Amino acid sequence: MSEQGAWSAAGVPGPEPLSVYVHVPWCVRKCPYCDFATKPGTPETIPHQAFGQSLATELDLRWPEGHGLASVYFGGGTPSLWDPVALAAFVRRLLQQRPATRSRAHANGGAAPAVSAPGDLEVTVECNPSELTLCLALKLRDAGATRLSIGVQSFSDTALGFLGRRHSAAQAEAAVRAARAAGLRISTDHIYGLPDERVADALATTKRLLDLGTDHVSAYALTIERDTRFGELARQGRLPTIDEGVVADTYLAIESVLDAAGFTHYEVSNYGRGQERADHNSRVWRQESYLGLGPGAVGTLYAPGWAHHASVGLVPRNTMTSNLEATASRAAPPAPARRIAAPGRGQPHTDEASETPRPAYRWRNSGSVSGYLNALGERRLPNADTETMTRADIGLEALILGLRTCDGAAIAHLTPDLRHRADRLRAADRLEQTATHYRVPRQAWLHLDALLRAL
Ligand code: SF4
Repeated sequence: MSEQGAWSAAGVPGPEPLSVYVHVPWCVRKCPYCDFATKPGTPETIPHQAFGQSLATELDLRWPEGHGLASVYFGGGTPSLWDPVALAAFVRRLLQQRPATRSRAHANGGAAPAVSAPGDLEVTVECNPSELTLCLALKLRDAGATRLSIGVQSFSDTALGFLGRRHSAAQAEAAVRAARAAGLRISTDHIYGLPDERVADALATTKRLLDLGTDHVSAYALTIERDTRFGELARQGRLPTIDEGVVADTYLAIESVLDAAGFTHYEVSNYGRGQERADHNSRVWRQESYLGLGPGAVGTLYAPGWAHHASVGLVPRNTMTSNLEATASRAAPPAPARRIAAPGRGQPHTDEASETPRPAYRWRNSGSVSGYLNALGERRLPNADTETMTRADIGLEALILGLRTCDGAAIAHLTPDLRHRADRLRAADRLEQTATHYRVPRQAWLHLDALLRAL
């Protein structure tokens, strides 16, 4: 059987739209709590043009014909350190993946249009308040950004000093105002649960964010990661202890204030005004395919997107061929499709969809900037690791990602074993079930980690 034929036999529908995550790895200095993949860099030392050219080449190599563009996210690192002219050139290149966004002149081979992302395409750029002036906000808007994710973290200078941030509370406020003045959608990050922080201290930041008109809040409790400066200090006993009871009270207080202000708590750490959502992140949580571009970036293509990639030779041939047979054997259910009860209706439904193969192909790029630039200079993919994920891997991720959201984890993505484990928790009233999803009751989100461990 030809490779194409094998995939056709698996029932490959038309190409799905793809999201794009661009990792801009540079930070002026490392924050003591952060374990993200970052590199030291300033606007003077970043290879702005070479980076943009490498991203464009990587996009060429990874993008299969025929897919639409679903969402774009520039994360890091600090994307606001990257020259907005170079960012604009790359967004213009990205929008060419979406034929509907091209002007008639451009579609006919004329000059490329000024970048204008259509309203339904979310293009988010993470920004550090230290850089985010009105001038930069306007440049990013003109570059095609529709949404800025601003690392406010706190409106307390004491808290910002503890977190090792480069900006002050006044700069954070000015940054949010700049984004608002530029007419962009605004998401703001808030870190709470610091040592000696009271609930009222954290709420002062929440309320200030509301006063400034934020559309979306990502509120995270400070976690001490092992391979960070804070992790080192904690091991040496030199980091003040954090009162977990106060952290829990703060989580509930933030939820209450945002709820009263009309925000929807749609993911354990994320709140949107009314129906506002982080579209890109929501797609990743729903396990939709995304291309990860840039040094250290991770990308994941789920079948059938993976199948389409395989058909154009993008998945390494040895990986593709060695897994085709395994995938085909997974495609054949060993027993008739199980039937499970749909609660609330009393009618069982088949879960045949869960018996279809849904493998995924995941890659992680080289984290070395020079390695990344060199590989793409030779038109080689900068893969550091590649992995073919099994249905069990994907099912586990579906639970971990989905149970953090108000939508829940799609039952169709779970293996029979995972469904069995989830059913046990449902029987103990620790999970809810709809016709299509398992969900964690909202009041139990505070104890989500313990629930996931119980799975
Ligand atoms: S600016 Fe953001 S990505 Fe950079 S070190 Fe600080 S927390 Fe990490």
